[in-house]
Amino acid sequence: AAEAISRIGLAGLAVMGQNLALNIAEKGFPISVYNRTTSKVKETLDRALKEGPFPLTGTYNPKDFVLSIKKPRSIIILVKAGAPVDQTISALSTHMDPGDTIIDGGNEWYENTERRIIEAEKKGLLYLGMGVSGGEDGARFGPSMMPGGSHQAYLNIKDILEKVAAQVEDGPCVTYIGQGGSGNFVKMVHNGIEYGDMQLISEAYDVLKNAGGLSNKELGAIFDEWNRGELESFLVEITADIFKVRDDKGSGELVDMVLDKTGMKGTGKWTVQQAAELAIAAPTIAASLDSRFLSGLKDEREAASRIFSGEGLKEEINGAVGGVDKKRLIDDVRQALYASKICSYAQGMNLLRAKSVEKGWNLNLGEMARIWKGGCIIRAVFLDRIKQAYQRNPALPNLMVDPEFAREMVQRQAAWRRVVGLAIQKGISVPGMSASLQYFDTYRRARLPANLVQAQRDYFGAHTYERTDVPGAYHTEWSKLA
Ligand code: NAP
Repeated sequence: AAEAISRIGLAGLAVMGQNLALNIAEKGFPISVYNRTTSKVKETLDRALKEGPFPLTGTYNPKDFVLSIKKPRSIIILVKAGAPVDQTISALSTHMDPGDTIIDGGNEWYENTERRIIEAEKKGLLYLGMGVSGGEDGARFGPSMMPGGSHQAYLNIKDILEKVAAQVEDGPCVTYIGQGGSGNFVKMVHNGIEYGDMQLISEAYDVLKNAGGLSNKELGAIFDEWNRGELESFLVEITADIFKVRDDKGSGELVDMVLDKTGMKGTGKWTVQQAAELAIAAPTIAASLDSRFLSGLKDEREAASRIFSGEGLKEEINGAVGGVDKKRLIDDVRQALYASKICSYAQGMNLLRAKSVEKGWNLNLGEMARIWKGGCIIRAVFLDRIKQAYQRNPALPNLMVDPEFAREMVQRQAAWRRVVGLAIQKGISVPGMSASLQYFDTYRRARLPANLVQAQRDYFGAHTYERTDVPGAYHTEWSKLA
């Protein structure tokens, strides 16, 4: 039998697994690796030599792999979510012993994790569902990690996770999230927020380009500048870079030649589905998902643009700067982007809170914001302010009403309304920014026209209504009295 030499194991050596394994090994934790297709084991060993040397052991079958890890064993799985995870667990667990731990690091649906936790318990195994964010570079040099499930399993590898995670001034970007599938759920909402951020940035680009007439060169410089202020974040930083890349197959910048059709893998859709299940309004995240759906209808959109231009409606007023003060527009868009982002994060946080209450996870929202400050795709300076808001008041009903964020939203609302108004006038779609603004405007109103909806429901369905003055449920025979 193989000698147990490694502190931890990792199975699944595609992009994420390979890089996370190298990261763990680089931090000095001896690691065994395994992949169903064994050429990837060789590839990882080569990289460990080239980038290291690191204490990394390659194994070529599940048994040797498991036996090469010291007990109690901890094994991270990074394979495609769904059935491949079940298959990998069943291949490995036959060689594992009670007290050993399985950690699924994939973007898994949280209920699959909850099912697997129960199955693992039957074998005496511990289980963690651990969201990992930061893509390839994050995995290699410091991701944000969201482990949920068995607390003991977390304690077994806490020292490793804390060393491997991205480091920010207030600690490593990892914490024990909570019981059950909470780690996967938090990662899912992280991805939903990521959808929102990307959509809002793309709308800022659209307005600056098509209402402001800005060139890619100007856009690159503006996003660079924004990245030095309150919008400082990974996504704004890479956006600035994107505008500077030349097209190697033609003239101009590559961004103009990228097909305007967005791909997706499901976590954004799950976020919106969960928001609906929990009756949490998440209009900005939903708008970003809808935008991805509509972006996919490239042929239909092209046909529609011909129909409407035939009817005299231009697709957009390209480069028309008439009446638009460029400098002011740029500053307005920056403010609109920031205010819209606050709304989007408020939605994500409220979704986390609602699920936490439903499942009894006891999520610490300030800590969630903290571990997103580094390593992950939504990392941003602004997350520190969100952390502080929930530290000030863990029961904060909505991020928008935190005194600091409330002040910032009010300061920005004029610019925000100007940008959304201009876009609407010019026919430039800004579903994310306007959904955020509508969320704000709906939330801040003491009285909504919902009285009329209730009256209608009572009129046609006798659903009853409450009164503003006297308690109780009332029904009126509206048709007889009208
Ligand atoms: P991936 O493309 O999702 O999956 C490829 C890996 O899964 C390979 O190791 C493959 O093994 C293995 N696999 C597939 N079916 C299998 C089966 N039936 N049995 C055993 N192994 C199987 O890899 P990835 O992009 O590195 O992502 C891994 C996980 O991390 C996913 O859940 C993904 O959503 C998540 N994630 C990815 C990123 C990213 O930027 N890529 C970021 C965050 C999270 P073979 O080589 O043998 O085919």
